[in-house]
Amino acid sequence: MDGREKIYIRTSIGTLALLKKESIRMFEKPYTAYILQYSDKGCSGNCIFCIQSRVNSGLRKDMLARISWPKIELREFLHFLEKKGKRLFKRICIQSVIKNEFIEEIIYIVKKFEELGLDIPVSVAITPVDKDILYKLRSLGVDRIGVGLDAASPRIFKLVGKPYTWNKYINFIKDSLDVFGYRRVVVHLIAGLGEREQELYRVMENLISLGADIALFAHTPLPKLKSYPLGRPSIEYYRRAQIVRTLLLKGYRLNEIFYVRENRLCFREDIVDEVREAIDLYMLSTLTSGCPWCNRPYYNESPRGPFYNIPSTKMLENLKNTIAKEVLEAISKCIELNQ
Ligand code: SF4
Repeated sequence: MDGREKIYIRTSIGTLALLKKESIRMFEKPYTAYILQYSDKGCSGNCIFCIQSRVNSGLRKDMLARISWPKIELREFLHFLEKKGKRLFKRICIQSVIKNEFIEEIIYIVKKFEELGLDIPVSVAITPVDKDILYKLRSLGVDRIGVGLDAASPRIFKLVGKPYTWNKYINFIKDSLDVFGYRRVVVHLIAGLGEREQELYRVMENLISLGADIALFAHTPLPKLKSYPLGRPSIEYYRRAQIVRTLLLKGYRLNEIFYVRENRLCFREDIVDEVREAIDLYMLSTLTSGCPWCNRPYYNESPRGPFYNIPSTKMLENLKNTIAKEVLEAISKCIELNQ
């Protein structure tokens, strides 16, 4: 990669609209500039829930989740970014796909961002790579690594066709923590891939105790996607996961959050009281989780709702009565174990 050939990337429609001042109807603005590595055939992974995956070969490759990602030449994107990036964005996120020489290309793209000298933090979301690549990315100014583990357990990992193995991902998360440090490795988990609720809680507890952070996503069952029959998680399920993530990050263990009665998992009374008394604070759990300033507006949700991840505090303020009710209802229910 010597800079003479044309390199294309994809960028989320919201990112591009802000940079090019296009007048699309935007209910919420992204705080992060989202970039997706370009491949005309998509990713050579087999994840059944991802439009980019080759198992969903009949689908448009300019889409990811609910968002369209137009193709643009890297040079053109850099031009816009240099002019307006600092004013518009607080972070840049580059998401990789698996294709020939994708690692070299990611490094090249990151170098190009570094050369602009914008001083905007950069995240790279990538599948397992060697530790020397992680050191290289860190030396180029990347401050956080996103890891699309996606599945809540080895069982779901296999079921949804993730590439490599569960253990390879866990080792990669540990390597990334060695290189980038505490809470600077953000593991993507998708709620609603057929996992048991307690599997999701257990994996969050394990990852958080390793030192990672969690970015929660809701499964987006678009028609024609191989994962379509899995449907979408209920809001109640998702709110519980968001609250459990916050409690785990505050230092609680699962056995301090829940008790088991008659094969049901219930929130402890003192935890329910704590959440109720500080509901304004706990509602912040419903804001989009992940790297600082990653708000992914409408990535998982239609502008008509339901809203899994709330992209801004302003929107949270507008929805506060509904969200407070959802949170309190969600944690007042017990969950049947082993369903
Ligand atoms: S949490 Fe957001 S910014 Fe961070 S890697 Fe994931 S998508 Fe990118």
